[in-house]
Amino acid sequence: MSEINTLSPVKPVGMEIVYYYPCPHCERKVPLIAPTQPARVQCDACRGQFPVVPADEKTVTFLKTIMDSGRAGIDPSFL
Ligand SMILES: [Zn+2]
Repeated sequence: MSEINTLSPVKPVGMEIVYYYPCPHCERKVPLIAPTQPARVQCDACRGQFPVVPADEKTVTFLKTIMDSGRAGIDPSFL
């Protein structure tokens, strides 16, 4: 039996909210972990740069809190 089969499935201890921003150069939906500051980002497909509207930090904190850092959103059959 390999070592991986002896390990119990691990539960999450944290989570992030991913926001998608459409690249104005190539239209790819660029995934970003909720940027809470205005920022200039680089598209990972075309390398074009563009500024993004930041996420509201209070909303991101609220969502993480109601999800209990991910623990409230795991598959119930693993509880
Ligand atoms: Zn792009």
